[in-house]
Amino acid sequence: MSKKLTSRAEDYSKWYNELVVEANLAENSAVRGCMVIKPYGYAIWEKMQAELDRMFKETGHENAYFPIFVPKKLFEAEEKNAEGFAKECAVVTHYRLQNDPDNPGKLRVDPEAKLEEELVVRPTSEAIIWNTYKGWIQSYRDLPILVNQWANVVRWEMRTRLFLRTAEFLWQEGHTAHATKKEAILEAEQMNGVYAKFAENFMAIPVIQGLKTESERFAGAVETYCIEALMQDGKALQAGTSHFLGQNFAKAFDVKFTSKEGKQDYVWATSWGVSTRLMGALIMTHSDDKGLVLPPNLAPNQVVIVPIYKNEDQFEQIAKVAEDIIKELRAQNISVKFDKRDTLRPGAKFAQHELQGVPLRIAIGARDLENGTVELARRDTLTKDIVSLDGISTTVKELLEEIQNSLFDKALSFRDNHITKVDTFEEFKTVLKTKGGFISAHWDGTPETENKIKELTKATIRCMPLDSEEEQGICVLSGKPSSKRVLFAKAY
Ligand code: AMP
Repeated sequence: MSKKLTSRAEDYSKWYNELVVEANLAENSAVRGCMVIKPYGYAIWEKMQAELDRMFKETGHENAYFPIFVPKKLFEAEEKNAEGFAKECAVVTHYRLQNDPDNPGKLRVDPEAKLEEELVVRPTSEAIIWNTYKGWIQSYRDLPILVNQWANVVRWEMRTRLFLRTAEFLWQEGHTAHATKKEAILEAEQMNGVYAKFAENFMAIPVIQGLKTESERFAGAVETYCIEALMQDGKALQAGTSHFLGQNFAKAFDVKFTSKEGKQDYVWATSWGVSTRLMGALIMTHSDDKGLVLPPNLAPNQVVIVPIYKNEDQFEQIAKVAEDIIKELRAQNISVKFDKRDTLRPGAKFAQHELQGVPLRIAIGARDLENGTVELARRDTLTKDIVSLDGISTTVKELLEEIQNSLFDKALSFRDNHITKVDTFEEFKTVLKTKGGFISAHWDGTPETENKIKELTKATIRCMPLDSEEEQGICVLSGKPSSKRVLFAKAY
């Protein structure tokens, strides 16, 4: 039986770690910083993947696959990208082990099997992909290339947390090539928009679309777009990024094309990615002290049916009703599971499904058999209702939609209540300490001020919102003029 979770108020971070493990989402592995994603967690990730994949294809992208290893020379080609990721790279130096003559039963690296050229385990794939695109692109007719890859990447992170920051993580990375700057910028914006739509419509997480400052930008990018979300503890989370890479990678890998007019030019690029971090965002946005709360659009089982019976005969009658409900729900594309395990009492099943965030629970008992009813319980509000079996699939369908919307509305009102405008540095510090969330403030546009604020408060500029309006003001720290507010927050 699962144990009670530490409450969020008591220790948010402990609550998160316990929830991830207790709800069977993931656990730490034998490799530091690398996690095992368990079947229930993976089922949620698969639902995310399926929808994102659909959205990518709807916007004209195709999937492909590139190697996990990047020869060091290729990796070095785009200098800023290489420099930015160097400190987090795992590197393969040998390709064979042998028996260790000094330690019977142990293996060691075969010194004879040293690779001539070291291989970097991809922390991101621009280098290997742009080296490949060189062979694919000669003329404007070869453009655009709209490719996505589902893959794992490795970044040797020092401080890791399940899903939020791991040394190996799963993600998708889109890598597109275009004939014009304008087209590439539109693509980067479009994909950031796709992420925002996915976060809001499927994850029920409101996000702010914005641009990163220079110091938070992806290494090698000209511009980084992002979606930023706010977690229940008032800390921000970067939930996705989309980069306009200019001609940086085309120049590094000498990828040119002949235009319609017969002129040679370097190709324009974008890349964009979301990772298993989204699982962390999902958990931290909606869940409560009883466990996971899942938006119906991403729940592996949207409904669970629990029979409550005293004897075999009663069970048989309830099972018959359950089978009818299942048929009706499945016909409406609602995923449902009949929890007929006879090894657990109903109360224990209730607790487990609550912990695992199943949006709706249907309980059927002897009295329901008599009355033609079932008990319907919502995971998000923990409220219960007795409803008629007549039209059960319509009732469930409407309720699932209501849950999906109400989770979004709740997260939105929390987020909006945690965007605070401040005009002085004193206010800035007070809000950060007492309330958290996003702080909307004027900034003078310099990395020096940004760094100083980070040093003093641990808050960073999460983004310069795309929809932020012109407004004359003065920087909260330096007092220099500023024409737009940016969003600061402490972040994961
Ligand atoms: P980037 O390539 O740095 O723009 O990151 C692409 C996506 O992966 C972003 O949504 C990041 O938030 C996410 N991400 C970056 N590092 C990690 C990590 N160590 N673990 C999980 N997700 C990550």
